[in-house]
Amino acid sequence: MKVKLPQNLEGHNFIGGEWVKGEAGVQEIFSPYSGTKIGSVSLPSVAQVKIAITKAQEAQRDWARTPMKERAKVLFDLRNILLRDIDAITHVKASESGKTFDEGRAGLMKGIEVLEFALSMQNLDLGGKVEVSRGVTCEYRREPLGVVASITPFNFPAMVPMWTIPIALGLGNAYIWKPSDKTPLTSIMIANALKEAGLPAGLLTVLHGGENTVNTVIDSETVRAVGFVGSTKIAKLVYNRTTSLGKRALCLGGAKNHIVLLPDANPELAGVGISDSFTGCAGQRCMAASVLLAVGDVEKHIQKIVERASSLRLSHEMGAIITKAQVEFLHAAIDRAEKAGAKLILDGRKTKAPEGLEGGNWLAPTIIDHVKPGSEAHKVELFGPIISIIRCKDLTEALAIQATSEYGNACSVFTSNGALADRVTREARAGMVGVNVGVPVPREPFSFGGINASKFGHGDITGVHSLDFWSDVKKVTSKWEKQNDNNWMS
Ligand code: NAD
Repeated sequence: MKVKLPQNLEGHNFIGGEWVKGEAGVQEIFSPYSGTKIGSVSLPSVAQVKIAITKAQEAQRDWARTPMKERAKVLFDLRNILLRDIDAITHVKASESGKTFDEGRAGLMKGIEVLEFALSMQNLDLGGKVEVSRGVTCEYRREPLGVVASITPFNFPAMVPMWTIPIALGLGNAYIWKPSDKTPLTSIMIANALKEAGLPAGLLTVLHGGENTVNTVIDSETVRAVGFVGSTKIAKLVYNRTTSLGKRALCLGGAKNHIVLLPDANPELAGVGISDSFTGCAGQRCMAASVLLAVGDVEKHIQKIVERASSLRLSHEMGAIITKAQVEFLHAAIDRAEKAGAKLILDGRKTKAPEGLEGGNWLAPTIIDHVKPGSEAHKVELFGPIISIIRCKDLTEALAIQATSEYGNACSVFTSNGALADRVTREARAGMVGVNVGVPVPREPFSFGGINASKFGHGDITGVHSLDFWSDVKKVTSKWEKQNDNNWMS
């Protein structure tokens, strides 16, 4: 389906269940598809951020006492509203992020999958009680933290927020959401859906802006935990600021994902899997392949990757790049790779913009061969539809190169040899590993999270491992009867 750009969507800040105009200016939003203005959001003042947090705190007191089954009912209704409105939401998120309609829809469906997982929380491990000594019981209970915050990136305007909104709310917290300053319009639709689902006022807050809003939220004494997803540079800043105040933080950063291609791999499977991994969402995915470790003679596989990637039509099967500045950065990075001795086997700079969308931000798939280990095209997260091929003599060399990555989100191997696949799953230095899968995102209830500079903090952001981040575990020891045989255990 063709993405319909909104005419002029106006968004404000969702505070205490109402849309409140920000007092600190207006930010205009331009579509990566056309370069035209599609909407704006107003930015909150520091005073408005503080009022929002106070309202969240007030609302959370009742929510914490609301049984989980009742909280889950709101989430269940949210699921149905999101499914009902999926096309309308997808048009807005694709328009502001540059995704194709199908990619936008798939991202929202993944968010809904997390929501469905959150609906099962009432059946998961939420407490327990044991008689630990005669007449003495120990109990543990999962309790909400209070007010929590989440800062999200431009590239998944609905999916990444939906990683945490249902879990944090379902566990009884109030949730402050600071969407990306580049793609804030989707938050209007999600907040309205939660309002319609019956979420009491104040439990979801949406605040726009960038550094100022984020810092005011982090510094608030009321906010107990901060989740962040975005670049490594900002992840580190947010992690350090939050933890220096003694609060918990889980900050997911950037990536540079490697794929190991072995000569015995099925060429069709590898061609589609690797091409789709580096071109999907125009390469603007933290799970996108960006380095291909080509072991031995894999020419026929590379030919399949080139065929598949060069068949993609801009604005149909492949979307746009978020900003003009990012397109310029990608062009310059390709130039520098060539100057450093690499060879372009597919040059996306030569592809024309789609007709009628000449003002948009476009770069077609680009494949750079004979990239040197340690060079910019190998090490730096470019965040565009570019894959760097490094030629390797054997799997040992490929794994040694992968291990030098600063990041650690994903690593995949394409092979038909189970023992070699098993070796890669064990030795790859990444949090999420794939076998014959280009984008090894775990499905719920398996949790999402990388290692190294792709994640700061402990635990994962979705799945069963996320429950500990968004809640406290309280231990209660009780004795109700006086006993004659008291010993050290009672
Ligand atoms: P970004 O770091 O520029 O922005 C992320 C969020 O931080 C946005 O909400 C932004 O408004 C806010 N922000 C920007 N500057 C800030 C500052 N100085 N202080 C506080 N907050 C600030 O990231 P982006 O460009 O929106 O997203 C792309 C990046 O996100 C890529 O590096 C990508 O790999 C990464 N990402 C990682 C994951 C993951 O799961 N690890 C998922 C998606 C995206």
